[in-house]
Amino acid sequence: MAKRGLLIVISGPSGVGKGTVRELLMGDRELDLVYSVSYTTRAMRPGEKDGVDYHFVDETTFRKMVAEGGFLEHTNFVSHNYGTPKKEVFAALEEGHNVILEIEVNGAHQIMKKCKGENLLTIFILPPDRETLLERLVGRDTEDPEVIKARLEKASRELAMAKDYDYQIVNDDLGKAVEAIRSLIRARLG
Ligand code: 5GP
Repeated sequence: MAKRGLLIVISGPSGVGKGTVRELLMGDRELDLVYSVSYTTRAMRPGEKDGVDYHFVDETTFRKMVAEGGFLEHTNFVSHNYGTPKKEVFAALEEGHNVILEIEVNGAHQIMKKCKGENLLTIFILPPDRETLLERLVGRDTEDPEVIKARLEKASRELAMAKDYDYQIVNDDLGKAVEAIRSLIRARLG
């Protein structure tokens, strides 16, 4: 039987560059990473694909999955629901793959509690400073000002929880941040 894979949780405020970091990490075949595609009730953004970026579902479907215990963790983030499918994640881990979750802090806390003592690595990505984060969030231009405001408020609360993660990595230079995370994963894989 394959050695159970490593569960990697990556969090960080909206606009910090988590998605880009994750995509670059996924490009390293040696890390054998599987990205867990979450379920969400939020609307699809231009350029996103159903089943690739998220499984886009309605409230009823999401609630049904919650009731059936289908999520490893789930939360409400700025008025929308997000959840990590349990079955897919466990199956990939059992097969020996390393699974990467890109989730916000509430969900990460649920995972930390549930997977205590298991093969888990938690990483929080920090922005170089608040101004850079604001620029990135506004520059993204995919959301209206109210949503950006809500995400910024949420970002402040999230930053306060960075200390709960195994490691904190500042995304000042994308290449260096990815390299640092790659090293952390490699060290854990042995
Ligand atoms: P976005 O709407 O910008 O794609 O995601 C909003 C936030 O939800 C991001 O911080 C993202 O990492 C987080 N997120 C995405 N999927 C999940 C999930 O399955 N569970 C939790 N807890 N957070 C998620």
